Amino acid sequence: MKRVLLKLSGEALAGDKKTGFDENTVISVAKQVKQLVDQNIEVAIVIGGGNFWRGRSSENIDRTKADQIGMLATVMNCIYTSEIFRSEGMDTSVMTPFACGAFTQLFSKDAVKEAFRLHKVVFFAGGTGHPYFSTDTATVLRAIEIEAEVILLAKAVDGVYDSDPKVNPNAKRYDAISIDEVIEKQLAVMDLTASIMSMENKMPMYVFALQEEDSIVKAITGRFNGTVVTV
Ligand code: UDP
Repeated sequence: MKRVLLKLSGEALAGDKKTGFDENTVISVAKQVKQLVDQNIEVAIVIGGGNFWRGRSSENIDRTKADQIGMLATVMNCIYTSEIFRSEGMDTSVMTPFACGAFTQLFSKDAVKEAFRLHKVVFFAGGTGHPYFSTDTATVLRAIEIEAEVILLAKAVDGVYDSDPKVNPNAKRYDAISIDEVIEKQLAVMDLTASIMSMENKMPMYVFALQEEDSIVKAITGRFNGTVVTV
């Protein structure tokens, strides 16, 4: 592996609290990513916003505005995580698709290339910059743009199941599944827009549980506890 995109959900940053930040969880992520950076693997990261806000969090306000709040939540998450990464000895850059003044750098492929050349971990904050999209879509879009080899999808569940394992105790986990089958069966890996982009652009995914010890480091080897989504 030379270049990967890691997706963390917002809730993953919150640990058991489900909201805000859980510093120990984020430090553990940082320590794992440091191991990848030390192996000269280029790492980009997308973080969701669900630990603060989702576009569907309020039924009373305009959806476009609600989505803007969600995108700003992801900016907060990336600035926080980037600082924890720095405290663990990594260099980082936080990029957004819209201007955030001096808080972040404007995203461009050239800027990403330069950041990787300087051995930085690059955070893609602010999603796609557009309402009615998700950080899943931003993940696939950015992975394609930067020509990542694989998306590392760190989730609360340890892979892709044929039904929700929290509801169905007999749910079966796939070791490997094609993205076509994920779309056909509408399995809850990513939202449909993101899955279709992944299929059209042949972007594979490794799906695993963030809370399992060293799961990010193991995923990079391709031998991990989870599901490979093939394209
Ligand atoms: N969001 C958006 N456009 C994007 C990415 C995110 O509007 O390109 C907003 C949307 O409101 C979403 C929130 O940011 O609910 C948080 O993103 P995340 O993907 O974590 O949300 P989820 O998929 O959990 O709703």
